[in-house]
Amino acid sequence: MNYIVMDLEWNQSYSGHIGEHPRMPFEIIEIGAVKVDKNYRIIDEYSSLIKPRIYKKLHSKIRTILNYDETDLAKGRGFKEVCTEFLEWCGKDYIFCTWGPMDLTELQTNMAFYYMDKLPRPLKFLNLQQIYANMVDPTGSTVSKLEKAVADFNIPEDEPFHSAVNDARYTALVLKEMHPRNLKDLYSFDLYIHPTKKEEEIVAIHNNQYEYITREFSSKQEAMDDKDIACIRCYKCNKKINKRLEWFSNSPSSYICAGKCWHHGYFSGKIKFKPLDNGKYYVVKTIKPIDKNGVEAIKQKQTEIRERRKEKRHTRATR
Ligand SMILES: [Zn+2]
Repeated sequence: MNYIVMDLEWNQSYSGHIGEHPRMPFEIIEIGAVKVDKNYRIIDEYSSLIKPRIYKKLHSKIRTILNYDETDLAKGRGFKEVCTEFLEWCGKDYIFCTWGPMDLTELQTNMAFYYMDKLPRPLKFLNLQQIYANMVDPTGSTVSKLEKAVADFNIPEDEPFHSAVNDARYTALVLKEMHPRNLKDLYSFDLYIHPTKKEEEIVAIHNNQYEYITREFSSKQEAMDDKDIACIRCYKCNKKINKRLEWFSNSPSSYICAGKCWHHGYFSGKIKFKPLDNGKYYVVKTIKPIDKNGVEAIKQKQTEIRERRKEKRHTRATR
């Protein structure tokens, strides 16, 4: 299997939302990628400029970072032709690697705009930005620009950034420097298309955690009432976990809980609600092992939230 390290450049309406096409707010103007083998060697490169159809004038923000302009783009080929050629170049056995989840979203939005066939589901990819974040900080919450990772690893900066193929090459070099031992296990699921039926739901155990991506629900409450969502099981022995802390809302879009399996120790559960344009939601639930301090931290969080709510109620009552 090869790694396709991909980077895209896109443009947007010059005049903000006014000139925006609702089906394609961002139009891809360049596809760049490198093909990397299992030893992290770059074995091939792909690069092509795309002649824009919707946003022919570059947005000022984008113009300043690019190394080319409208005249160069006008010489490019249409998206459909380039994208078809690119996907053929990818080959049969590969996994996409990108710096952040946006490139795959925009690729698929542009493909949908031209009514091209959808990429096969479920679509796994390696979010190298997230893998890097987990490497530099155990909570994985520091989102870094590619430039920072390149500088951190002392990778020579011979070529300018913000050319798709250069960025793809830099990303591949960062991947080589990271060479995580369990890379195959570190994949994410692309959520451009979410499950709509029970049969399409995704359950996966990888990266030392359990992940469940559900179908749609009309409301957050309806999702929380679903027994497959509410129940947490130890993914090592499949036994129900004794909840130490029931699900509680720790932000407007998520719930957390904690419990213990007698054989495999403490676990935390997290439910993230993903809002949809039709007013419905789907859920991404994860269960992962934690230690006793982890349980205490969640308990602490619950207490803080309760105190804050109490305070709010109090201020309202005395107003
Ligand atoms: Zn267990």
